[in-house]
Amino acid sequence: MVKGFGGSSGIAIGKAFVMPSWEWELTDKMVDVADLAIEFEKLYEGIRSSKSEIEGIKQDISDLIGEEESNIFNAHLAILEDPIFMNEIQGLMQRQFKAAEVAVKETIDKFVNMFDLLDDDYMKERAADIKDVGNRLLKHLLGEWQGTVTPTDNPYILVVKELSPSQLANLDAGQVLGVISMLGGPTSHAAIMLRAMGIPFAMGMEGKLPHAIQTGDTVIIDGDESVVIIDPEPELVAAYTVRRDRAAAHRERLKEIAHVPSVTLDGKRVELRANISSAKELELAIANGAAGVGLFRTEFLYMDRTTLPKEEEQFEVYREAAVKLGKKPIVFRTLDIGGDKPVGFLSFPQEDNPALGYRGIRISLDRRDLFKTQLKALLRAAVYGDVRILYPMISSIGELRRANEILELAKKELQKEGHPFKADVPVGIMIEVPAAVVIADLLAEEVQFFSIGTNDLIQYVLAVDRMNETVSALYDPYHPAILRLLKQAADAAHRKGIPVSVCGEMAGDPDAMPLWLGLDIRELSMSVQSLLSVKEKVLKSDTAHGAEFIREALKCVTSEEIRQALTAAPVEKSCIHHKEG
Ligand code: PEP
Ligand code: MG
Repeated sequence: MVKGFGGSSGIAIGKAFVMPSWEWELTDKMVDVADLAIEFEKLYEGIRSSKSEIEGIKQDISDLIGEEESNIFNAHLAILEDPIFMNEIQGLMQRQFKAAEVAVKETIDKFVNMFDLLDDDYMKERAADIKDVGNRLLKHLLGEWQGTVTPTDNPYILVVKELSPSQLANLDAGQVLGVISMLGGPTSHAAIMLRAMGIPFAMGMEGKLPHAIQTGDTVIIDGDESVVIIDPEPELVAAYTVRRDRAAAHRERLKEIAHVPSVTLDGKRVELRANISSAKELELAIANGAAGVGLFRTEFLYMDRTTLPKEEEQFEVYREAAVKLGKKPIVFRTLDIGGDKPVGFLSFPQEDNPALGYRGIRISLDRRDLFKTQLKALLRAAVYGDVRILYPMISSIGELRRANEILELAKKELQKEGHPFKADVPVGIMIEVPAAVVIADLLAEEVQFFSIGTNDLIQYVLAVDRMNETVSALYDPYHPAILRLLKQAADAAHRKGIPVSVCGEMAGDPDAMPLWLGLDIRELSMSVQSLLSVKEKVLKSDTAHGAEFIREALKCVTSEEIRQALTAAPVEKSCIHHKEG
């Protein structure tokens, strides 16, 4: 059993198909000065063909993975238009008379090596994109291609050194049971695409496997645990087959409650909303019975592109989403880039502690142009639905007021321009910085709602980097300090009478239900995949048991005690009650 790291969840069992690793071997071919113009034309023709091929793939794959995710291929188009990349190729041809394919290959190698050397996962993944696009261009220059390998007629588990979006687009996704890759990170484009397709994926296996996987080997992927098992014993195959089938049957059963009201046994409503970052997820959210969107992570609109999204473009995306949700609320979080979410076209300074650095609202207050454009698009979209605006990373009243000043400015400009907009859009803040919890009573006076972001709150309170594998065991959502802070934030909101929701990963943990009920938090927002299992828990829960739990939990001195209290009596009682009732 080998453990890698987070790809895409689910269990896959099957025969491996190992994608042959492939490199172009080119001799250092030169061209005659007199033939340079023809060589350039060959390069331009190759670029044109590559672009139209990428456009075609983008179209074809958008049905499969959604329009937003298929925008990954925009990044590939952008590379073919990147002046630095193209100048390098042209320079090698013009000054050193290298053949087009040799210049392309040398340029790919140079950029890939350069990006690979950086201690930055995001840039390493961009190196994979350059390799992918470069190989496509080489195919057009040389007339060969490795990506059309058809593995077998039967479904298989794909094993690759590193999966590129183009390779994935070339494969018949219906045949791919799961994917194992030696390299790659959780924010790689391939990982994003596989998650959208619901294909289990384990990655980061380089150097960890006892021996190389061969085509035809039986393998198991447990995407939830990021585990790979090669040549498992029959008993293990049987055990995982049971788990896989049970999970599939449970998923099927859960579909039945998608449109059942989310109400506890004692008749209290718990609003379950979705965290989304693309239009594709919105449809899934609606199909899974979401009572709205509690967190729309808008930063994904800004990623994988070379220019800022204009007001009009943003307005269209926000409006379409608001219209799709009809009367249900949709909470748009303003740009939360920086930290673990870099944006290519904004160059940020290198930081020793990016999580404590230039990110979230700090960037928006600094880049007022960028922030105002987004706010204008949101105010205009608010005419079409129940739109709410959420500021990330707020740590002081000053930041909140400055953000609101820009919001007022945005309204004034819209008025001047004659665009219809909604002036009284509810404005809330993420409670994710410890300081915001400490002054939650003050903040509650000046906002219309709170949304508690436990992902960041836990990292900041416990001083545990949420991206750092080495300290991941210390990242403890049930630490007594977290419980106390959650209570403090919820109490402040209740005292002022403003809604409070939770939108961090904790909200998607069905086991946490007594905690929310005990804190009287009745709005939760979570990833689409968690909606139904959390609703299943709501239907079996009782608010009285939540109150009982919180009384006990506040006396607990360790997280183990809190976890025990969570899984102990109240829920069991409610389940029995449910069965009897
Ligand atoms: C959070 O911090 O809890 C949150 C929901 O935001 P993100 O995960 O996007 O930082
Ligand atoms: Mg956050």
